Amino acid sequence: MDQRFDVSERFAEGAQFIDGRLRGGTSGRTQAVVDPATGEQIHTYALAGTGDVDAAVDAARRAFPAWSGATPGERSDTLHRFAAALAEDSADLAFAESLNCGKPLKLSEEFDVPGSVDNAAFFAGAARHLEGKAAAEYSADHTSAVRREAVGVVGSIAPWNYPLQMAAWKVLPALAAGNTIVLKPAEITPLTSLMFAQAATRAGLPDGALNIVSGAGRDAGEHLVGHPDVAMTSFTGSTAVGKRVAEVATATVKRLHLELGGKAPFVVFDDADLEAAVHGAVAGALINSGQDCTAATRAYVQRPLYDAFVAGVADLMATVRLGDPFDRSTDLGPLISHAQRDRVAGFVDRARAYATVVTGGEAPQGALANGAYYRPTLITDAPQDSEIVQSEIFGPVLVVLPFDSDDEGIALANDTPYGLAASAWSRDVYRTGRATREIKAGCVWVNDHIPIISEMPHGGAKASGYGKDMSAYSFDEYTQVKHVMYDITGTARKDWHRTVFGDRT
Ligand code: NAD
Repeated sequence: MDQRFDVSERFAEGAQFIDGRLRGGTSGRTQAVVDPATGEQIHTYALAGTGDVDAAVDAARRAFPAWSGATPGERSDTLHRFAAALAEDSADLAFAESLNCGKPLKLSEEFDVPGSVDNAAFFAGAARHLEGKAAAEYSADHTSAVRREAVGVVGSIAPWNYPLQMAAWKVLPALAAGNTIVLKPAEITPLTSLMFAQAATRAGLPDGALNIVSGAGRDAGEHLVGHPDVAMTSFTGSTAVGKRVAEVATATVKRLHLELGGKAPFVVFDDADLEAAVHGAVAGALINSGQDCTAATRAYVQRPLYDAFVAGVADLMATVRLGDPFDRSTDLGPLISHAQRDRVAGFVDRARAYATVVTGGEAPQGALANGAYYRPTLITDAPQDSEIVQSEIFGPVLVVLPFDSDDEGIALANDTPYGLAASAWSRDVYRTGRATREIKAGCVWVNDHIPIISEMPHGGAKASGYGKDMSAYSFDEYTQVKHVMYDITGTARKDWHRTVFGDRT
């Protein structure tokens, strides 16, 4: 491993980033940061308490007038420098992300880090394209203007699966639109969010515009959601916690953006390119060890291709190399934690009672035994209403089921509470056209599954939440529309007053 820096030295001052500098948390409790590939503790830090959240919100509140008042050009310049600072830090960011999450270095280097740099570059440009839609005379006596304004202080809460990318997705559109932010990363993965904020400060982002509170969900998280000076909550995480966040946010009538869980279907019609579908399913199911809200989790395969698809996926899964995330030949790293690995194993073990575990379904032994590893797992013969088909597992587990008619395939794809992402595989444009229209999801890929680029709006339907990350559509979340109306007559006695007092003149 190329040990780029010592984590405890780098974060010796603390794991809270408030008003432009690192400091310690004041909750009185500590949190271990663990390398999931070995189970070894790499750092311990003091968790944020409610007082730290208050300090961060106060810093963001004080930074708001200047940042929201900056011209789009000034904000854009800062974000361009921020993109350059992140690019400079690429190797350190990839190292920290792989160390803290167990991601294969090739994934951190080729996906997480460049994706985040590109997101900063995208929003640097998009910052100059924020506009009200119209100025016009909607009545003969008035001119109206429609302004788009920053919402205020945004409280963002992120999960552990892509800590750097989630920080980028939450923070960049909000900053580009003139908001200031308090971001709470998942407490087990704070490192790259802190490095992200440090890079922003180095790039000239004013102190207080971006603050990081590394704290637990139940206290620091809920306190941030319920804070009266926070105008909006932007949450990415599980549907269960998202419901709780919505309850807490309601008390202060906050604007809400919820990016929640997924259970993406992968629908293979009988004219599909089988080799492409098999490769797409294995890559789509195993990316980030399956800890991806858009991961392919349920493959529905039309009967004529079903047996060949199952055999192809099993064969390809057998070639996937588990190993040290820093070894360049490693394909699949550990899960984020031993607890998550045990949770995934629990789903698979319960499924043995009603389904067939074709391959995987176990933790590797030997050199990897101390890490939170789990073998790529393929399951068949599961009833549609079973737990393994309906629940989000968030591990390297793919369920494959057959279908007969196109109607049935699409109906099965829609038959979970979730609606985040999906894919349809066919050479027939009419079939894929129908599938893209009828599958209820925030994103439907055709003959691919997973690619995600800054221009693409990302967000769910149904129990996967509402609102969009990335893309120009995210500005709908992070701005509010204000109507401004000017009288253009200069008359004291306006004609419409007669509806309240007096008669027609
Ligand atoms: P989680 O819901 O357990 O936690 C997410 C965040 O919420 C963490 O920062 C956590 O500390 C915080 N939190 C927990 N309880 C809270 C509370 N009561 N109030 C406020 N904050 C609280 O999710 P996770 O296990 O960290 O991440 C995995 C989940 O995230 C999966 O369900 C996955 O699908 C989802 N996810 C969704 C998207 C998307 O774009 N839709 C992207 C990535 C991950």
